[in-house]
Amino acid sequence: MAEHWGAAVVSVGDVLRAEIAAGTELGREAAREMEHGRLVPDRVAIASVESWLDAHREAFVFDGFPRTVGQAEALDEVLVRRRSPLTAVLWLELPVALIEERVSRRVVCQSCGRSFQVGLHVASREDACPVCGGVLTVRSDDNSAMLTNRMEQYRAHTQPVMDFYEAKGMLRKIEASGTPDEVFTQIEAATGINSAQETVGR
Ligand code: AMP
Repeated sequence: MAEHWGAAVVSVGDVLRAEIAAGTELGREAAREMEHGRLVPDRVAIASVESWLDAHREAFVFDGFPRTVGQAEALDEVLVRRRSPLTAVLWLELPVALIEERVSRRVVCQSCGRSFQVGLHVASREDACPVCGGVLTVRSDDNSAMLTNRMEQYRAHTQPVMDFYEAKGMLRKIEASGTPDEVFTQIEAATGINSAQETVGR
């Protein structure tokens, strides 16, 4: 999506993993929750998004944010202050069995941070990153016990965020069980954004 639209991706999970790797206070606080598959406190998630926005001026796609109604409300205030309203909120719907399957096949490049599926983008976990040649690894929370915790957190805290955006008329539901191209075609249709000239969330 970001490549097609000339936008930057803000993955709060990636920002937090970078804070952990850098050994910052924010990272230490985040690690206490992330290693159990729990959401980090809203304050920590919002701080990481604000610091990212301070450093960037381009259009953006938030990935994995907001994950609580508190974060959604705080995001509204931040974006009103910055005069950069959201264009759309995408809800990618996927049966739990398929989520489990995709998580079990996910590998992440240690160098460029991109995610890939074993069997789709690479033949095995031992392959090199197809984009930059870096070493592929499995995320420490991509196992079935942690996934159960993350799904519980999702039902308790993130599902209500859908009602929040649905009430605002901004939610676009995307059926995400197809191939990446099929899912992207739906996203283009749902957002009405289909060229690099147009931007999302600027
Ligand atoms: P992700 O990379 O999006 O799967 O997120 C991995 C982990 O980072 C989650 O299980 C949470 O512990 C933490 N995390 C990521 N985004 C958020 C958020 N918006 N709010 C709270 N915790 C988050």
